[in-house]
Amino acid sequence: METVTASPEETEAVAARLAARLRPGDVVTVAGDLGAGKTTFVRGAARALGITQPVASPTFTIGHVYEAPTPVAHLDLYRLAGIDAAEWGDLEPYFDGTIAFVEWPEHGSNWLPAARAVVTLRHVDETHRRVSVAAHDDLGL
Ligand code: ADP
Ligand code: MG
Repeated sequence: METVTASPEETEAVAARLAARLRPGDVVTVAGDLGAGKTTFVRGAARALGITQPVASPTFTIGHVYEAPTPVAHLDLYRLAGIDAAEWGDLEPYFDGTIAFVEWPEHGSNWLPAARAVVTLRHVDETHRRVSVAAHDDLGL
């Protein structure tokens, strides 16, 4: 599906609709330029999955796990120049039994588990973003 949102709240609402379809073990990649709304999207999904803590991009670490009946992992691979087996060893626990959202997935090359949904955000103008959600199975979106 593809839609244009007119506010951060609308982007969060699209994310919440996707979140309702997710199950433990799912990985969602969230791509787009700086400021495109990746973290906003993850925040909307995390809220819908029962996370009440503030959701911001992990700054000093590569990722964060929010505890919930199904924990929600949030990774930002921006600072990762490349990934090797040792680095993957550090990342792997984030995907264990969680629903995981990955910003800058292109920095994870082909080490990341297969994504259940691929989200792409693009700037349209200051307040509008084109949000596309692609998945192999019908997510009913
Ligand atoms: P990223 O993680 O991609 O760098 P953020 O989600 O941190 O982006 O920031 C997106 C910024 O764009 C926020 O300041 C947000 O308020 C603003 N914004 C404006 N319109 C939208 C929209 N339609 N969807 C998402 N964010 C929007
Ligand atoms: Mg971000």
